[in-house]
Amino acid sequence: MKSRWSDRDAADSVERYAPRFGEDLALRTYTSRLLGADGDLVLHGGGNTSVKGTRTDVLGKPVGALFVKGSGRDLARIEPEGHPALDLARLRRLRTLPDLADDAMVNELRQGLFDAAAPTPSIETLVHAFLDAKFVDHSHADAILALTNQRHAEELVREALGERVVVLDYIAPGFLLAKATAEALESRPRAEGIVWLRHGLLTWGESARESYERHIDLVTRAERWLEAKGKPRRRAALAEPATSLEAARARWERAAPVLRGALAEATGDSDRPWRPCILLPLIEREVLDFVDRPDARTLAQTPPLTADHLIRTKAFPLWVDDPDLDDLARLREQVARATQRYRENYEAYRARHSARAEGITDPRATDATPRVVLVPGLGAACAGRDARAAGIVRDITAHTLAVKSRIAEIGAYEGLGEPHLFDMEFRPIQLAKVDAVEPPLGGRVAIVTGAAGAIGSGICRVLLEHGAHVAATDLAGERLEELGEELRSEFTDRVLALPLDVTDPGSVAEAFRGVSRAFGGVDLVLANAGAAHVASLASLDLEAFRRLERINTEGTLLVLAEAARHFELQGTGGDIVLVSTKNVFAPGAQFGAYSATKAAAHQIARIASLELAPLDVRVNMVSPDAVFSEGARSSGLWDLVGPDRMKARGLDRAQLEEYYRNRNILKARITATHVANAVLFFATRQTPTTGATMPVDGGLPDATPR
Ligand code: ZN
Repeated sequence: MKSRWSDRDAADSVERYAPRFGEDLALRTYTSRLLGADGDLVLHGGGNTSVKGTRTDVLGKPVGALFVKGSGRDLARIEPEGHPALDLARLRRLRTLPDLADDAMVNELRQGLFDAAAPTPSIETLVHAFLDAKFVDHSHADAILALTNQRHAEELVREALGERVVVLDYIAPGFLLAKATAEALESRPRAEGIVWLRHGLLTWGESARESYERHIDLVTRAERWLEAKGKPRRRAALAEPATSLEAARARWERAAPVLRGALAEATGDSDRPWRPCILLPLIEREVLDFVDRPDARTLAQTPPLTADHLIRTKAFPLWVDDPDLDDLARLREQVARATQRYRENYEAYRARHSARAEGITDPRATDATPRVVLVPGLGAACAGRDARAAGIVRDITAHTLAVKSRIAEIGAYEGLGEPHLFDMEFRPIQLAKVDAVEPPLGGRVAIVTGAAGAIGSGICRVLLEHGAHVAATDLAGERLEELGEELRSEFTDRVLALPLDVTDPGSVAEAFRGVSRAFGGVDLVLANAGAAHVASLASLDLEAFRRLERINTEGTLLVLAEAARHFELQGTGGDIVLVSTKNVFAPGAQFGAYSATKAAAHQIARIASLELAPLDVRVNMVSPDAVFSEGARSSGLWDLVGPDRMKARGLDRAQLEEYYRNRNILKARITATHVANAVLFFATRQTPTTGATMPVDGGLPDATPR
């Protein structure tokens, strides 16, 4: 591993931050990011760093301060404010205590903050406080864990890193670890680092650079030692891989909804019987080689590399034995059985240690859904409440499997014992790092057709605001790309923009596959794509009529048919909402092609509600009156027919909008958000309703569904 230190970047950081935060914190920020930039050192909120300095209190008196990372903050993107300042002397006086419970410790930390509104400091704050060195760096480096998570770990660490480091047996992070670390170092004043077995590495120095480079140096030594040990056997292991990447990826596309369906948690609520997750694939050469190893099952089901990973991955992954990847019905049974067993084992594990976690009623502690599923011939599936959480699980899993297979080359893996695992998994201070509030559409995936238009984009936005993951689909092109960028800038990895031509069965199937590739499956289908044409029946061009038939009628049929096949495969119900139109009930002259083809689409959706009810798939319709625009996005349909309608009625654009407003009894302007709110009503399953139509039209008595 190379030091990423650059004099120039360090100077840039000082120039940027020193005027407000001082040079020390500017450099602390810089080298913290260097640690965070390397996934082999820390992952997502792992690791922590600190610097000691002074702060001036409200009386104008300088006070010794510790600037330490806020709990759960990501080192890769940390800002100076991510290291809140605490009163150092106040923290150090705690060292005389024999023990200090978590809640009391957090209370002390929060009281010691100079800024009462600052983030809660890291669980390892007292370690940093009790050491004398100015800068302290802590990571969970892969190479260090590859040494510490073995039998005879202490000997191996000494052999690899020499006398420069102190080795300390596992102690759960918190007060006792801080105290033990300080004591161990008092007798070894010349040490440059400390290795905590089954946890990680701590280094220090008088400058940010010294502490960081000692860290890199020790990790490099560990890497070299592992490299030297691993070589002979690795050469022998080079053989034809059992599964090719292409085969595994193709299998994922087909099998993902089956896996996702089997992992969904039963809620006991008849309106929302399943709690789905987002499922991301981890299919890489190393991962496939791992799951195809003869000893993979045993090796995979060993404890995690560090207790820090537990809140993300749980203590053990789910292993699927002998999966039948060619027979999806059989695969579903296999995964369902394995998941059931996993849940039972998990409950038993909780019961075995329940005395250690009395009074923990946090729902984050009771969910027994596996986070990592390992499938020979396929790779790993990583589950989370959202794409971000699943992405963290994926990164941790990639590193975990790499370290475990590395250890298997040279020795025997030995992780933390079950009581330690349990303590860390259910520790309130750890659970607090996971989002507690679940949005109404959390874990759900929607596909929206015709998303680049006014109504489609409005629906995407409202679904995203309520926690859904959304695949925005439309014809390939600039409008779709712009929408994708706009939504991603706000909702990041919960957004997917996919090209989809609803008139092409291949394109529809490919879009569903694309969503499965990205999120594991689909729960909500918004059939919204549509087109209009203005002409009297007498002058209607047959080709124009057929074009509308293909988009509005066949398009709806193809999307609903694909949705039906998908929902059957996934086995956890689903929701379909068709964006219909008030014209189905109150058609307009000159609007024959549109009204007739949309009426056919509407009828197809009603048929779907009959056919799909046994699968717990609800199909409903919303029927809006004219929507002209959503923000800066004008309705494509109105761009097309508006001029003709205006001409027909002798109105300009503003007058036309006014005309539509005045024809409803509430005198309401209909917006895309109104339509999206009606979609949301169905998508969140507020009532047991299917095959129904909700008008969104301000009240048009002649368009009341009948
Ligand atoms: Zn740690």
